[in-house]
Amino acid sequence: MIPVNIPDITEDDISAVGQVLRGGWVSGEAPIVVEFEKAFADFHGREHGISVPNGSIAIDLVISTLEIGPGDEVILPSFTIISCLSEILRRGATPVFVDADPLTWNIDTEKIEALISDRTRAIMVVHTYGLPVDMDPVLKISQKFNIPIIEDSAEAHGLMYKDRICGSMGYASTFSFYANKNITTGEGGIILTDDPVFAERLRYFRNLTFSAEKRFVHEDLGWNFRFTGLQAALGLSQLSRISEVIERRRYMAAEYIGALSKIPGVNFQPQVTQYATNNFWVVGALLDEAYFPEAKEVASSLAGAGVQSRPFFYPLHLQPVYLKTIQDDVLKLPVAERLGRQGIYFPNGLGMSTDMLMDSVQKVKRVLSK
Ligand SMILES: *Cc1c(COP(=O)(O)O)cnc(C)c1O
Repeated sequence: MIPVNIPDITEDDISAVGQVLRGGWVSGEAPIVVEFEKAFADFHGREHGISVPNGSIAIDLVISTLEIGPGDEVILPSFTIISCLSEILRRGATPVFVDADPLTWNIDTEKIEALISDRTRAIMVVHTYGLPVDMDPVLKISQKFNIPIIEDSAEAHGLMYKDRICGSMGYASTFSFYANKNITTGEGGIILTDDPVFAERLRYFRNLTFSAEKRFVHEDLGWNFRFTGLQAALGLSQLSRISEVIERRRYMAAEYIGALSKIPGVNFQPQVTQYATNNFWVVGALLDEAYFPEAKEVASSLAGAGVQSRPFFYPLHLQPVYLKTIQDDVLKLPVAERLGRQGIYFPNGLGMSTDMLMDSVQKVKRVLSK
């Protein structure tokens, strides 16, 4: 079976981690953690980087440090991962879902302004699958109403929006370093911000709310959300090859799209828009109902042919855990729903050989052409 992901771990990565192990600085207190945070923040032109155990916690920590709670609203796309919703619901705040744009699959930016209320505390955007959100309209709304943007860049390492890098545009921007992301530390995440006070609060809550004056006396409850020296070493090593990673992702996507895009009913995210060139974190296809009435059957045919695949995100506004919290009618967001029903993505791991890629492309082509 060709797996959807094989991470790329090089000899340089291994020796970077080995060096930390030999040096003995393995914990979250290791100086290399600060070195990694600085390097990652610098790469994005940001003042502060706060590393955390994963990308979900990065979002949780931002929402909770912003003290978003009951009565507050957060605008966010429905077509994304549960990590964007979890802390909003845990804290008793109200998610306000926006449908996806049918072409880009990102949040439909034209629908945001009408959803702003005097309870809106944040606008969350998610750069989806390697194509950035059209940020200028969102930044304009953020300034007009003075509402911070949370920029989930977990799928967007090294991605450019016009001449700005993703992760540089949010009041707080979050990343994941999970095994299938453009930079991996196994598990891992980081928050970037330019606000020194907010950065200090994030660090305080990340580190059990220890304080300098009275270390074991606590005014608030925090967490141990520290990143390790081992992860930092791997992250630094991975960051040094980010441009090769992007080139490889684009190459893999071009092979799939070249082979599959003429098959009727098979649609891809655009490779280029007016504001960006797609990095294709994943190569996802949206299958027309008319040609593929049962997208799930495609996944099992692929599995039969030896190719692992994954469905797209299931829309957040239909998640059972969310529906339990509402009394009103269930929202209808047709684009997010269609993406959730008809979307499928194919193997594109960075550790995959070109032979394996070509094999995968041919097998997918055979299955989709039937
Ligand atoms: C992967 C991902 C996350 C979560 O990151 P983890 O490190 O897996 O917790 C959050 N948001 C998006 C858009 C992601 O793709």
